Parts: sequence; C-alpha cells; structure tokens
Amino acid sequence: MAKGVVVALADPPAGLARHLAFDEVGGATARQIGELFRGYQLLVVVAAVPVAVRAIAPHLSNKHTDPAVVALDELGRFATVIAGAHHGGNELSRRVSAFLGSSPVITTGSDSRGRPALDQLPGLTVSNCPPNVQTRINQGAPIRIANPTGIELPPFLADLENAAEPGEQSKGPPVVLVVSDRTSDSGEGDASGFLKTLVAGVGCSSDANSEDINSAVATAFASAGLHRAAVAKVATITSRIGLLSPAFAPLPVIGYPPGSLSEVATPNPSAAVKAAVGTPSVAEAAALLAAGAGAELALPKQVFPRVTVAVARMPRPRGRLNVAGIGPGSLDLATPRALASIREAQYLVGYSGYLDLITTLVRPSQRLLPFPLGAEIDRAEKAVALAAAGSTVTLVTSGDPGVYAMAQLVSERASDSFDLEVIPGVTAANAASAASGAILGHDHAYISLSDLLTPWETIKSRLVAAAQADFVVALYNPRSEGRRWQLDEALAILGERRDPNTPVLLARRLSRPGQSVEVTTISQVNTSKVDMETVVIVGSSTTTRRGELVYTPRGYRLATQIPAP
Ligand code: SAH
Repeated sequence: MAKGVVVALADPPAGLARHLAFDEVGGATARQIGELFRGYQLLVVVAAVPVAVRAIAPHLSNKHTDPAVVALDELGRFATVIAGAHHGGNELSRRVSAFLGSSPVITTGSDSRGRPALDQLPGLTVSNCPPNVQTRINQGAPIRIANPTGIELPPFLADLENAAEPGEQSKGPPVVLVVSDRTSDSGEGDASGFLKTLVAGVGCSSDANSEDINSAVATAFASAGLHRAAVAKVATITSRIGLLSPAFAPLPVIGYPPGSLSEVATPNPSAAVKAAVGTPSVAEAAALLAAGAGAELALPKQVFPRVTVAVARMPRPRGRLNVAGIGPGSLDLATPRALASIREAQYLVGYSGYLDLITTLVRPSQRLLPFPLGAEIDRAEKAVALAAAGSTVTLVTSGDPGVYAMAQLVSERASDSFDLEVIPGVTAANAASAASGAILGHDHAYISLSDLLTPWETIKSRLVAAAQADFVVALYNPRSEGRRWQLDEALAILGERRDPNTPVLLARRLSRPGQSVEVTTISQVNTSKVDMETVVIVGSSTTTRRGELVYTPRGYRLATQIPAP
C-alpha cells in the first residue's frame, strides 16, 4: 500500500492522518518537507500553495515516480493537487476533502471536464499517449477504437466511444485508440493500449532457474511481436507452479495436472515431454486451457534451453467480479483490498446509498451503476453480465458482502466465464461491538429479523435456540416502517430466557454522520428509535457492563479485581 504523510509547518488538522492511515509530522520546516518527499508516495502538505510548491519544486523529477502531493491551506478550505494528479493526487484531494469538508481543487483537464483520461482507464495499459492526444479528448474529440486482432471488445470500451457529455457536440476529428496485444500495431493510431488478452504457457525442466525462464519468455515475446503488458496470466503443469510463480509475480501462475493437459489438441506435441512429465504438451496445452473456450495460439511452442514458451490469445479479456464490503460507513474502516478493487473497477455497481459513500474515490473513467434499495437481484445480474462480457466490475456492499448482502446472490450466478473474488469487510455487529468494548467477545449468533424472505416462524425458532444456547445475539434488519413488531417479539423471546439486567446495545449509523451507541438492558430497552440503520446486540448470561464498556468475557479468571473506569 502507498505510504503517506501529513506534514504541516504548524499543527496538522486533528484526526486527518489517522483517517488516511498516514504518518504525521507537525512543526516541520520547508526543508523537512523536501526530505519527506523522497520517503513517501502520498503527501498532504499543510501550507499555502506557493509555500508547498517551493518546498517540493527542487525535488520534482518524473511524474511517474514522484509522489502525489496535495497542498492544504491552514484553514482547511482547499485541498489543491500540486503533483501526481493521476498517480493518487486527485483521489487524495477528494479523500482529504471528504473528511475535512474542504473543496478538492483538481485542475487536470480530463477530470475537471469529466472526460476519460486514457492513462487512467482501468483494465487498459496505455503504452503511448502523447499529451496533445489527451488535450483533444479533453476538448471533446470523440474516441474511436481500432481493434486489429479482432477480439471481442469489453462493453467498457464501447462505452468509451460514446463518452461525450450528454448534449455536448463532439469536437474535432476522432482520437484513434489502437487496442492490440501486438507491438507492431501501435503505429496505426493516435494512442495505443493493451487489454489483458494473452496467456503465456510455460514449460520447464526442474533445474531451470529464473534467468532461463525470464530470458526465454522475453525472447519469445519479442520474436512474436507480442507485448507483455497484455499478459493476463501464466499457465503451466502443476509440478512447476512453485518454480514459475516467483519469476512472474504479481501475475497469477495457474497449473494443470498432466491428465488435463493431455486432453488438449496442440500443434506441436512431443514424445520426449510425454515420457518425462506425462503429457505430450505443457506450454501450448496449458496456454490454451487457461485461455478458455475460443482461444487460439498467438505463438506456437518455442524451445529454449530448459524452457518452452507458447502464447494463447483469449477471444476477449477475462472479466472479473469483485464483491467488496466497504465496512459500515467511513472509508477508514474499509480494507485496503476493498479500496483497491474500487480503484481497479471499470464498473461500480451497488445500491445508490452505498455508492454515495465512495464517490470520493471514483474517477471520470469509471462508470457508476447505482440501483434503488431492494433491487438486489437486478444488481447481481447486472454485475454478473458485465463480468461475463469481459469487464472488471466491483459490486459494492456495506459491511461484509456475505452478511445479509450480495455475495450469496453472486455465488448462485457465478460461472467459469469470469473470475470472482469476495472481499470481506467489517460487518455492523463487529463495528458495534468494538464501539463499546467487546460484547461479541464469546460465542455469538447473527439473526436477521427481516421476514421478507424467511418465514417469521423460522426466525422465531432460531431466536429460541440462540437464547437457549446462551449466545450473544446480534439482530440485523431490526425494524423498519413496514416491520415494527418483530423486534419487540424477538426481545421478548430473548428476555424470557435472560436476566432482566442483561446488557443490550442499540448501535445506530455506525461510522456514519450521526453515529449513536446506546447501552441499556433487556428489561428497559426502548425500541421506538430503532430503525434499519441500527444493529441491536443482546448480551449472554456472562456479558458484563463496566461504565460505558460492555464485554462478554472469555472465561479467564482475573488475578485482581479491576476497578470500573
Ligand atoms: N452487509 C451488511 C448488513 C446488511 S443488512 C453488514 O455486514 O453490515 C442491513 C442491516 O445491517 C441494517 O438493517 C442494520 O441492522 C445493519 N447495519 C448495516 N450498517 C450499519 C451501520 N453503519 N450502523 C448500524 N447498523 C448497520
């Protein structure tokens, strides 16, 4: 993860560094700002813009390697991007502003006009895009895609061709973006980019080293005129995964057993290879297998000392669906992996209320597809259809995506035609427990009180069982306009089997504006304020309250009696 720092000539704004998970340096000199420039990838310099510019100017060298810098004035009104706009600066300015209520000052042409920045298109690696080409796009020139290898283009690129502002006249001749995995095609247009459409199939003997492997692959790609930026993954025989993974990291290396490889028809089988590893082809067979139905060989097997290489081209880039939980609200409770999946997405799908929580992270090149509350099946189907067509999609949920959320609906619809990753998140019950100590400190159960999809009789029998088993019980979906009585009945069922003083937490709008956490007891709980943004947690027989802290002990005996705080 990128390392960041908030550096201030006087005092840094309270809580900002913690919110961003950055280091913090107060009372810095201009010289120290320069020193920090080398040690971090993201800087918030709390100073007037001219001061910040002078402090970093002597250290600027290359926009691809310099850190991103946001200058924040001392009153916290403007977060101005002064370096690395497309390398985290614009996003940093939005994150700072979301926290402080400042205005992000973003002046890169594409972002301020809402036009796609070619070097920011998720899923496309742009290898040459002269600045005047981006300027033409910013000024409204339409984008045309040239597709010399004839792959099936993902919908995302088709959208790009229609990316003019609604009602806006397109201006000037089109910018031609060549999308190809061949280096030789790049001269045909104004800019060129690579989708991940190639699979490198690699076979090797057990004594091959990383130098053998790297030089074989480099020579094979160069001789075929193929670009390595287009490689989606590496495929091999199971027994070579360990040898190849370090050489290709971070690309995934997939291995197949000899039996599966033998079944693939390949142009260059070898009896010697079959005798050695049990399949007549490794490189070609593995590449074709990993590239999936409809794949063709872009480079037949090339033989090098101790290594063989073949390359297969997929009929379309492989789609990916991330189902990401962003935690209960504030993005500092989202995991770095969930945030990364939001950045890499071509499409962001989700309930509009959740997408609102991440707007600070979204770039103009990404498409937001908001859905109304309740349209869960539509959301899942849309996300799956886009991924199956070759797009990179992140389906955003609150909390954890598997807790009364979308990961189940997506799993039911998953297929071999795209990669699926479920990214866990902090669920509401965890956030509530942490907000007041550790009520979930021992065995617990989650029960949703929504009887829209589960009959009330089933919910009731689970409440009875959880009460009898002395679980701490977290009640999700406790009470809405249309479902008012279920919570009172649930508390009555638990209350019959618990001491009247059993602690109850009413945790509302956790890590969202207006958060409140009320600690009460099962005999005194007032449910009138409980709504669908509340999670209710009922303690077990051992749950204890000390001051404002509520916790369920694990059973350790205390050496000494600790006084209440
Ligand atoms: N996937 C979500 C839960 C979805 S069900 C998660 O893991 O948290 C929706 C219910 O979750 C709400 O009715 C409420 O009971 C609870 N919830 C979600 N976010 C919450 C928050 N920020 N504060 C309090 N309760 C929340």
